Amino acid sequence: MEFSGVKRRKPRLADDQRNACYPHSLQFYLQPPSGNVSLTEFETLAIDRVKLLKSVENLGVSYVKGTEQYQSKLEAELRKLKFSYRESLEDEYEPRRKDHISHFILRLAYCQSEDLRRWFIQQEMDLLRFRFSILPKDKIQSFLKDSHLQFEAISDEEKTLREQDIMASSPSFGGTQLELESVYKIPFAEALDLFRGRKVYLENGFAYVPHKDIVAIILNEFRTKLSKALALTARSLPAVQSDERLQPLLNHLSHSYTGQDYSTQGNVGKISLDQIDSLSTKSFPPCMRQLHKALRENHHLRHGGRMQYGLFLKGIGLTLEQALQFWKQEFIRGKMDPDKFDKGYSYNIRHSYGKEGKRTDYTPYSCMKIILTNTPGQGDYHGCPFRHSDPELLRQKLQAYKIPAAGLSQILDLVKGTHYQVACQKFFEMTHNVDDCGFSLSHPNQFFFESQRILGGGKDIKKESVQPETPQTRPSVQRSKDSSSALDSLSSSLDMDLEELEELLQ
Ligand code: SF4
Repeated sequence: MEFSGVKRRKPRLADDQRNACYPHSLQFYLQPPSGNVSLTEFETLAIDRVKLLKSVENLGVSYVKGTEQYQSKLEAELRKLKFSYRESLEDEYEPRRKDHISHFILRLAYCQSEDLRRWFIQQEMDLLRFRFSILPKDKIQSFLKDSHLQFEAISDEEKTLREQDIMASSPSFGGTQLELESVYKIPFAEALDLFRGRKVYLENGFAYVPHKDIVAIILNEFRTKLSKALALTARSLPAVQSDERLQPLLNHLSHSYTGQDYSTQGNVGKISLDQIDSLSTKSFPPCMRQLHKALRENHHLRHGGRMQYGLFLKGIGLTLEQALQFWKQEFIRGKMDPDKFDKGYSYNIRHSYGKEGKRTDYTPYSCMKIILTNTPGQGDYHGCPFRHSDPELLRQKLQAYKIPAAGLSQILDLVKGTHYQVACQKFFEMTHNVDDCGFSLSHPNQFFFESQRILGGGKDIKKESVQPETPQTRPSVQRSKDSSSALDSLSSSLDMDLEELEELLQ
């Protein structure tokens, strides 16, 4: 993929060319996309895929995968975000192209750490599993062939010949009749897991795998390929990151979230300092509750904690004057000299409100940023308790927050599965006594505003006031003013419309 500002006239691809580009609604992503993409489109595609993968994660922990509810909700999500899903739909070129390019963009953003890679691979696998499950039977063979998977469905005669052996060796058949199921003959080495579990019929170096079991093998293959590809991408990352147009965007993609950035200050001044203690137990997410408690107890927080907590407080409405007063009072309680505070700390607070230095109006940290960057060390209280606390310590904290035993194990299971934000969402539901919170958590300030909305009897007072000019439906990557404006200016100079892109893809 390249980025260029060269303007060209648009010729539209002929229908047969469009179909040949993407013959199926699902892909193994064997070839990277070619052609040019504008930075604006690059960003939009990437954000939509992050949204999609977050929905995949949420649905995967909220519903049993493969059930009717799971399938229909995921299909609705794909439809809403305009990604490909059904083989039979007419003119699927754009959704499939979007699927292809956005997958490769996220490879760049999500190859950067073990955590990111694991999360990305898991969501991509679930997405592929869903798409494969709704692929019409008569398309499966051609999809396998196009994906370079040498899995061939055997003929009815071959099936009949081995009927007894296949049925006896494959528990996944259950009561299904063999003639209704496809059976694939695949090299033995590809079916090692089934072989280890004694769940497959082997003959002359080949495994005879029923349709229900082939999905696991395909996913395994996909995982191996994607994992290798991410490792390779990570190696070429320094070159990509040296591109000053991409570097800020990729960083923000992997550390950010989709949705509101909580930078607008519509509710400035609506919180008084006296309210903070009680708000911290009622409406703060565990990460901020932990910071507040540590600050009150130790009358001090180290830099990482001051940044994370200070920007959160700014996002819920503390004015600069209130912030200065809040931190100063607390530090003085810890016997700090007022002069020392003024000289050493108030500059940083004013800086975070955009009143010093480059005058960047910093936005509160998103969950992804907190989870993935600046791991807390000894004596630090920042970070995300679901990600950074020792499991036993987390259990104790949750018990102290009065989470019932059943809920506790649910949350700890989610943490074990590395679904930290979903675990926090569960925490929200339990502490607010709601079955389904109805949002996908991505930001500590979102936790706060949703909590206030519920505690205020469903009136969305704070949420409305905080973002009058930023509709929730408008996707946006959180970024500092610096990178945002740099990107915007680059985008405008490099923008090419979709017509030109189509021409380049010819
Ligand atoms: S998931 Fe987000 S809001 Fe919840 S504790 Fe972690 S960082 Fe805070």
